[in-house]
Amino acid sequence: MDATAAATRQSLGRSQLSLDDFAHLISPAGADLLELMGQQSRQITQQRFGKVMRLFAPLYLSNECINNCQYCGFSRDNSILRVTLSVDEVVREARALIDQGFRNILLVAGEHPKFVSQDYLAECIAALHKSVPSVSLEVGPMETEDYRPLVQAGADGLVVYQETYDRAIYDEMHTAGPKKNFEWRLETPERAYAAGFRRLGIGALYGLADWRYEALCVAAHADYLLRVCWKSYITLSLPRLRPCAGEFQPLTHMTDREMVQLICAFRLKFPDVGLVLSTREPARLRDGLMPLGITLMSAGSHTEPGGYTGAGKQNLHTTQRGRIVELGASEWAANGGSVQATEQFHIADERSAGEVAERIRRLGYEPVWKDWDTVLTT
Ligand code: SF4
Repeated sequence: MDATAAATRQSLGRSQLSLDDFAHLISPAGADLLELMGQQSRQITQQRFGKVMRLFAPLYLSNECINNCQYCGFSRDNSILRVTLSVDEVVREARALIDQGFRNILLVAGEHPKFVSQDYLAECIAALHKSVPSVSLEVGPMETEDYRPLVQAGADGLVVYQETYDRAIYDEMHTAGPKKNFEWRLETPERAYAAGFRRLGIGALYGLADWRYEALCVAAHADYLLRVCWKSYITLSLPRLRPCAGEFQPLTHMTDREMVQLICAFRLKFPDVGLVLSTREPARLRDGLMPLGITLMSAGSHTEPGGYTGAGKQNLHTTQRGRIVELGASEWAANGGSVQATEQFHIADERSAGEVAERIRRLGYEPVWKDWDTVLTT
């Protein structure tokens, strides 16, 4: 990726960028053209998407997991407080989000078929579908046939991050559970597409392999999906590792400036894909990144089941070898009975959804709580 300044300028001047052009834009030579890239990226984003920012919220159903991912607080070997919300509790959580304005909700769960079965997911989706027009899933990968009932129940989007596209690091990070299978995960978006999902979200977790390598792989993956899953709308997320239970330290670092460079490069390479930014990033940075190419943001997020209403508190437990271990009286007493399930990671932007929406307006954008694409195509 040692592109020359001249080659990078040429790439920036093209109306349609190849993967080589994308590699030039994310190279160190591209960093010297960041201002120009920012201007172009901003302009294309406004042309294609208007001055709007779509908002969504994650709703955590369960923090049970059979995998060990070294960077994640929900890993099965972490002795954390776990719970799976009942369908009624999920509805309560969703109502709290609807009251804040959200109509676009991402249901998130760790991978544990015993606690998070396909039937359970279908029930949750069906219970929300009437009041939430846009329901997406970020759950353990499944077979196409297992996805179909979830689409029928009303889910239209599926998010699955490869985490890292570097196979050696992938092996090192995923020490136990079905997630060890790199290919199975990589092919998930295609299985989801075959089942009828029409919004597919992919991404890498920045902080594992070299960010430029990951970004190039994400771009190649997106390029492929745009051709093969051509009826779907593709979104790319840019999560950077955040502190979590287990105290994993990032292996690599992507600076804020490099993140700006990557957002602009993604926008220039893929003028029409959605670019997603979560509350993993701090408020000031999120505000600054907004005009540069981001089209979808989470806001006011909680990354633990029951985080919006306190639902599920009475069923908190630890899980050992798939078996629930009730909390002892002393553990309850120590916490005054007011403990929450453990979160997946600490968020950085702690503003409420209303505060984020207000900030979006002040920046001259319209906050949009619904995914209009979905509404117009159904
Ligand atoms: S990243 Fe996902 S699969 Fe891995 S431990 Fe966390 S919740 Fe489980």
